[in-house]
Amino acid sequence: MTASVRRRNASTARPAGKPPAPAWSLTEGRVAALAARACAGGAAAVVTHAPANGAKLADLPQSSAADIEAAFARARSAQRAWAARPLGERVAVFRRLHDLILRRQGEILDIIQSETGKARSHAFEEVADVAINSRYYARTAESVLEPKNRCGALPLLTTAREVRHPKGVVVVISPWNYPLALSVSDALPALVAGNAVVSRPDNQTALTTLWAHELAEQAGLPADVWQVVLGRGKNIGADLIERADFVDYTGSTATGRGIATQAAGRLIGCSLELGGKNPMLVLDDANVGKAAEGAVRACFSSAGQLCESMERIYVHDQVYDEFVTQFVANVDAMRLGAELAYNSDMGSLTFPRQLDSVSAHVDDAKAKGATVLTGGRHRPDLGPYFYEPTVLAGVTPEMKVHREETFGPVVSVYRVSDDEDAIAQANDTAYGLNASIWTRDARRGRSIAERLHAGAVNINEGYAAAWGSVDAPSGGVGDSGLGRRHGAEGILKYTDVQTIATQRLLPIAPLPGMSDEVWAKTMTVALWAMRRLGLK
Ligand code: NAD
Repeated sequence: MTASVRRRNASTARPAGKPPAPAWSLTEGRVAALAARACAGGAAAVVTHAPANGAKLADLPQSSAADIEAAFARARSAQRAWAARPLGERVAVFRRLHDLILRRQGEILDIIQSETGKARSHAFEEVADVAINSRYYARTAESVLEPKNRCGALPLLTTAREVRHPKGVVVVISPWNYPLALSVSDALPALVAGNAVVSRPDNQTALTTLWAHELAEQAGLPADVWQVVLGRGKNIGADLIERADFVDYTGSTATGRGIATQAAGRLIGCSLELGGKNPMLVLDDANVGKAAEGAVRACFSSAGQLCESMERIYVHDQVYDEFVTQFVANVDAMRLGAELAYNSDMGSLTFPRQLDSVSAHVDDAKAKGATVLTGGRHRPDLGPYFYEPTVLAGVTPEMKVHREETFGPVVSVYRVSDDEDAIAQANDTAYGLNASIWTRDARRGRSIAERLHAGAVNINEGYAAAWGSVDAPSGGVGDSGLGRRHGAEGILKYTDVQTIATQRLLPIAPLPGMSDEVWAKTMTVALWAMRRLGLK
C-alpha cells in the first residue's frame, strides 16, 4: 500500500473544505443495480449512510437462510466447471481485472470514500492493493499450483507426486475498514486456485464489494463462481461457516476466536487476520525528519482504522525531543476532510461506535494524567464522526490506550533508554501483527526486527513496505491471527494437497518366499545405503 503525506505550514488540523456533497458519481438506479447483484432479499433491507456527512447511500437487501442456501448451491455447481478450466484461462481473468481496476478507479474511489469516510489517497491504497495482488497471482499461480514430483520411498522403485485441488467453496468475511482490499484481494487467490467464493462484506461497505463483483464478471469471471451475500455477521456468520469448505475472516480478535471455534467443530480450515497494537521504534541513529513524516502515514492512514496502524511509538531518549517536536508539527499540518478529491490527509471515522471508542480511550488517558500533545477532539464541524489525529504522552499501564487496540487516530509516544528497553516494551502485548523500526543502519534494524513478536516488521516505513511486498506472506502471531495472506501461502491455503505415489517392479514388502527377518535385514542395508548416498 502507498500513501503520501505532504507537509504544510498550517498550525492546526483544519478542514480541507466543506463535507463532501451527497452527490457522487452513482445514480440511484446504479446503486440499486449494484445492490441487486447480492444473493439477498429474503430478509428486511438495511439503509446505509455516508459517514462523512450522513447522506443516504443505499437500501441494501439482506440474505435469509434460503438466500444463503441458494448462494452455496449456485457456487458449488459453478465451481466444478471453473476448476476444470485450464489454469491459464483462470489467471487471464485476473490479468484483465488488473487493467480494468486501474482504468475504472475513479468510480470505485468515490464508492470507497463514500462508504468509509476515508481520504482519497487512502482509498487509492485499496485500488493499488487489488492491482498488485491480481498481477502477482496471475504471474505466480501456475508455478505454485502445478503438480510437483517428490522423492519416493525407495529410489527408482517409488515415485511420488504432489497434486493441489481447490477446497470447494471458500467463505470470505470481510470488514469495513479496507473494503476493496480485504474483500477482493483475499477472494482473488481462492478463485485463481479453482474455488468458488461466497463473500460476506460488511453492510456499511457492501457497494464496494458489489462493484468489484461486477468488474470481475466484466473481466471474464463466470457468473455464479463468486456469490455475495449480505447480513450482519452475528445473524448469518454461523450459517455461512456451516456450509463452507474454508473460511477467511478479517476483523477483531474476539470475533475471530468464535469463528475459529466453529470451524474447528467442522474440521475445516480457517485463516484469521485480526487486531493489533502495533509498535514503532525510533532508534538513536534514525533520520528523525523521515521518521516524523513516516509516523504520520503509519498512524493516521484511514484515520487509524487500519489493522497495521502504529498505536505506540518508542523513541530513543537522545532523539525523543526532536522527534516529538517534528511529529507534532506534521500532525498539526494535516488537512482533515473526505471530499471526493485528493485534497485531504485524513478522513472521518466510519461509525458512531468508532467515535465512541476513540473518545473513550482519549478521555480515559486524559483523566488518568496523560498529556495530549495535539488533537484529542471530536470535530462535528467537519462531519459527524471526524476526530482529530491525536498524539499522547505520559501514557501509563493503567490507561486503556496503553494496551487495548484503539483502532482510530490515536498514538502514544514513549521515551526509551536503549534498544533493549524498546524491544521489551514493544513486545509487551498479546498482539503481534505489525511493527516498524527507524534507523540509518538497516543491519541493526533487521537484527532488532527478528526479536520483535510481530508477523511483519517494516524498516524505515510504517506498513506499506511489508504489506506491498506480496511475494512475502502477511499475517499475525499471537492474538493477531492464524494463517497468512500473500505469497505462496496465500494461495496454497485454499487448496487440499494430495500425494499420488506409484510403486513399480518390486513391492515395499518381502518378495515371494522371503522371510520377514531377511526382508528387515535387506531394508536395513538399503536404509544405510540411502543415508550414505545423502538421499532425502
Ligand atoms: P468485528 O469483529 O466486530 O467485525 C468485523 C466483521 O466481522 C464485521 O463485518 C462483522 O459484521 C463481522 N462479524 C461480526 N460477528 C461475526 C460472526 N459471529 N460471524 C461472522 N462475521 C461476524 O470487528 P470490527 O471492530 O468491525 O473491525 C475492526 C477489527 O478488525 C480491528 O480489531 C482490526 O484490527 C481488525 N482488522 C484486522 C485486519 C487484519 O488484516 N489483521 C484488517 C482489518 C481489520
